[in-house]
Amino acid sequence: MRAQPKASHFIDGEYVEDTAGTVIDSVYPATGEVIARLHAATPAIVDKAVASAKRAQTEWAAMSPTARGRILKRAADIMRARNRELSELETLDTGKPIQETIVADPTSGADSLEFFGGIAATALNGSHIPLGGDWAYTKRVPLGVCVGIGAWNYPQQICCWKAAPALAAGNAMVFKPSEMTPLGALKIAEILIEAGAPKGVFNVIQGDRETGPLLVEHPDVAKVSLTGSVPTGRKVAAAAAGHLKHVTMELGGKSPLIVFDDADIDSAVGGAMLGNFYSTGQVCSNGTRVFVQKRIKDQFLSRLKARTETIVIGDPMDEATQMGPLISRAQREKVLSYIEKGKAEGATLVTGGGIPNDVSGEGCYVQPTVFADVTDGMTIAREEIFGPVMCVLDFDDEAEVITRANATEFGLSAGVFTADLSRAHRVVDRLQAGTLWINTYNLCPVEIPFGGSKQSGFGRENSAAALEHYTELKTVYVGMGKVEAPY
Ligand code: NAD
Repeated sequence: MRAQPKASHFIDGEYVEDTAGTVIDSVYPATGEVIARLHAATPAIVDKAVASAKRAQTEWAAMSPTARGRILKRAADIMRARNRELSELETLDTGKPIQETIVADPTSGADSLEFFGGIAATALNGSHIPLGGDWAYTKRVPLGVCVGIGAWNYPQQICCWKAAPALAAGNAMVFKPSEMTPLGALKIAEILIEAGAPKGVFNVIQGDRETGPLLVEHPDVAKVSLTGSVPTGRKVAAAAAGHLKHVTMELGGKSPLIVFDDADIDSAVGGAMLGNFYSTGQVCSNGTRVFVQKRIKDQFLSRLKARTETIVIGDPMDEATQMGPLISRAQREKVLSYIEKGKAEGATLVTGGGIPNDVSGEGCYVQPTVFADVTDGMTIAREEIFGPVMCVLDFDDEAEVITRANATEFGLSAGVFTADLSRAHRVVDRLQAGTLWINTYNLCPVEIPFGGSKQSGFGRENSAAALEHYTELKTVYVGMGKVEAPY
């Protein structure tokens, strides 16, 4: 088992095992090889992790924000220094090509630790409110023990996007990675200890959909931040509402990417490819409904087809590989079944549409696939596929495309390619989404808020806005005179 960690869980600064938990096999999606065998947390492990976080949180919150920030920034430096090793682990965990993980995964996690470490000292200030003679002040205080629950597409990034703002604000965290990608978060827990975080401030436990509810329902947990699908989001939000807990929901999408006929076509094709094929299409904010204005449809499709057919698919550890496998056999079956539905419902297959010939039989590979002549009612235009399947739809004018782009229950992201600046701003203003791009797609630096609207969730990750979701305001009214009671 070439990626076997010392034990399944990391609690109170050390690795902990409880073999009574259900076995979780970590499978390398490129070959089907079992690379580690872990155990889901038992209720005793969940209690131990939450108790450790609760104990540590008091000491952590009492430190100055600058001191906490210094530790997070040190952790960022360690992640950067170990980028190669962490990227290889991320590739083993997810099957994403090393060409991607080396620039996008541990590095974006490190960005988050560095950013929140840096703003901890200034972004947690309260305010002074003059009231004549009396006055009041506010304090921004941590919530306590926060739970992070991750999806499998960006395991290290998701872990840091939750841990960094939570810890910067003085909370402690118990993080549960996806059962498909259990490995990366354990390394981040080790690194935080190496950087000087007190034991118990950041704990990792393994588990699946049976384990998640134990964390969400735990009486000592104040907040849950989930990255996952809409159905899971509904369950977690409902369970948290039963205890009136804070929640952040980063859920799925079916985002529109609109290309007007005055756009730079090569940029638009590049944006659409990045927004559909990066990470083998397993990105929540992908622009999977690509609306192309009719006049440029043929030109757009021919360039898109040519460029898509040059994508290098293969061994994720080979630096030349541009697209790896999907996360699992089950995900491949799901994606292939959507491709069959696309064909059956009358979309035109432009390229791809099956399993590539020259890759390992046990790997979960699917060809990058483009459908044209997709209409709004087709299943592939309505449901999140979470694979490398791009749907191209035609449109005539601006008002029509805005209405059609918004006709979805999701509202995570949207993009517009046009040379007309005022049209760009007018259109994004009317699109219903949490994160939007003009003349680019899917860029999510830590400085900008990221998150969805409608069924894609609520709350924001990244930027100073994330701190608001890991703190609450405490208001103190200060009476300066004698109390005048009417009785
Ligand atoms: P999923 O919903 O199946 O699982 C997400 C996590 O929730 C896993 O850790 C899982 O074990 C846990 N879980 C499942 N049921 C639970 C329950 N009842 N209570 C508590 N925890 C539970 O999602 P996935 O298949 O791992 O990830 C893909 C989905 O995530 C896609 O829909 C994608 O769009 C979404 N996603 C969203 C974002 C975002 O930031 N908006 C980012 C990445 C992925």
